[in-house]
Amino acid sequence: MNANVDSSARRTAAAAVLMVAGCSGQIAPLGAPAGALVAAPVVMSAAAVDAARLMAADKEPGNWMASGRNYGEQHYSPLQYIAASNVRQLGLAWSYDLDAPHRGQESTPLVIDGVMYVTSAWSKVFALDAKTGAPLWTYDPKVPGQVAVNACCDAVNRGVAAWQGRIFLGTLDGRLIALDAASGRPAWEVMTVTPGARYTITGAPRVVKGMVLIGNGGAEMGMRGYITAYAADSGKQIWRFYTVPGNPSQPFESAALEKAVKTWSGDWWTLGGGGPVWDSIVYDPALDLIYIGVGNGTPWNRAKVRGDALYLSSIVALKADSGEYVWHYQTTPGDEWDFDACSPLILADLKIGGTMRSVIMQAPKNGFFYVLDRSSGELLSADPYTVTNWAKSVDLKTGRPQIDSAARYSESGKPFVAMPGPGGGHSWQPMSFSPATNLVYIPVTELSFPFIPEKSSTLHRLAWNTGVDFNAGSLPQDAQIKAFIKSGLKGHLAAWDPIARKEVWRVELGRPWNGGVLSTAGGLVFQGNGMGNFVAYRADTGERLWSAETQAGVLAAPISYLVDGAQYVAIEVGWGGAFGLAAGELARDSHVASNLPRVLVYKLGGSAALPALPSATPAVLDPPPDTASASTVTAGKALYHR
Ligand code: CA
Repeated sequence: MNANVDSSARRTAAAAVLMVAGCSGQIAPLGAPAGALVAAPVVMSAAAVDAARLMAADKEPGNWMASGRNYGEQHYSPLQYIAASNVRQLGLAWSYDLDAPHRGQESTPLVIDGVMYVTSAWSKVFALDAKTGAPLWTYDPKVPGQVAVNACCDAVNRGVAAWQGRIFLGTLDGRLIALDAASGRPAWEVMTVTPGARYTITGAPRVVKGMVLIGNGGAEMGMRGYITAYAADSGKQIWRFYTVPGNPSQPFESAALEKAVKTWSGDWWTLGGGGPVWDSIVYDPALDLIYIGVGNGTPWNRAKVRGDALYLSSIVALKADSGEYVWHYQTTPGDEWDFDACSPLILADLKIGGTMRSVIMQAPKNGFFYVLDRSSGELLSADPYTVTNWAKSVDLKTGRPQIDSAARYSESGKPFVAMPGPGGGHSWQPMSFSPATNLVYIPVTELSFPFIPEKSSTLHRLAWNTGVDFNAGSLPQDAQIKAFIKSGLKGHLAAWDPIARKEVWRVELGRPWNGGVLSTAGGLVFQGNGMGNFVAYRADTGERLWSAETQAGVLAAPISYLVDGAQYVAIEVGWGGAFGLAAGELARDSHVASNLPRVLVYKLGGSAALPALPSATPAVLDPPPDTASASTVTAGKALYHR
């Protein structure tokens, strides 16, 4: 329960959802000086979001109605009441304790007409009064705990979508649930995956043209990726697009797969093939195209599977109404390094070579920053935004990376220490594009990984199926590899110029695996980090202007919104996720010791305070004598190291 909300606020919480619907009508027009307010359209029901409102999202900058705020998913707020000149007055307005401890918290909240909708680990949903933090309702889908073994990267959830009075949630065990936005009561529920198969949902659904779009994860476990569109009003399936071909002796589901199968060899379908759509789904209403980011294959090791393997590690454009393939760009042909292209996709209009281009941008795990024409898929630029030793450059004519042959560990059978590693130069943490500076702000991780081919390719029922000796990376025993990995274990916040194709500034963060990013028209960039600080920087220079202690490491992205004329900045805190779960001892020193999961909300002059940290007694390890054989210890690590 929120420590900073008085009891009267709690008592009136049930009525608040109706009240805020009518009293949130004060918003700042774009470019207006601080203090100038105009009336917003009166909204009569909760989460009354539709296509017209989403397309005109910039006209009501006080709301954050979709995952990346607008259809372009720029993670940019046009609000400017909080600016470089006054950000030092930012203080805590309220906080809300989340009922999901010891796990990563990755949700980008929505705020619609004074109500915040945010999720926590284990796919729980919280509707809060965005002004006070008073809970309006909570929803727990009661995900069975044992499905966590299918989640490569923690029992996380990255948020909900809103549409016409409903809130849509994907659950870790593969369900898509429509909730009544006013009451939190389920309206319908569908199972989107084969029960028992090792699929999980961690990403936020998106709603386009009355359809709820959802993918899933599980490439490290053995699955076949797809994205499905369901009718928002009924949950009825409208279309499904598979990202990789199935058994070639069976009919293909689409012409795109008939084309793709020529780029595969071996018996990939026996392990599923992979290609999950576990995070990014973006819509362009002008072109009526949906863009998806597709992940790596199963297994990582390609000793038995050769070829480019489409549409793994690709950006794919689909027709919105039918899910029919339109174009693709493969960032990592023949991926064997877990270089998912699932990282957030951002749409923008940029002047490139004197011409305005409608572009789509991504900084996927492989370390290159891509700018594509989003109508045709034409590659406009691809440049390393961090250290990349697997490929030095990308040929703009062919679109193919110039891959170092030493990096092909599956073929050589020899270890390769890759930079970036499977954690990615940048993973799911939202990056942000500011139309004011024309810069993209990227949370960059610097972390290498030794790819050592595993001898057996047996499908494990409870472990990762990568075909790579995972313990060598997460629990390195080789002193040289250990020293090399630890020396490169850091991260930074980068401001990237997508037109000039270069970094403009960077802030060194010391540790890897930090939070997503928000930029604002107030000339600010906000980011939380693993060491438990929420920080505001100048958007043009990276100068550190303000920070607050969060009592937890931060992974999620901040948002900004307006209620009754006051601008707020909100962030969910709580550390974990892929690196926290899988990196073993490397993760131990990469986050602040306390890990209290909360929503923290700040405003100018905010004077609330977090409760003092409970005193912690350091654990004293007293293991029994080690009597097991070396082979038993190795087998135990393989099963239980996570
Ligand atoms: Ca992956």
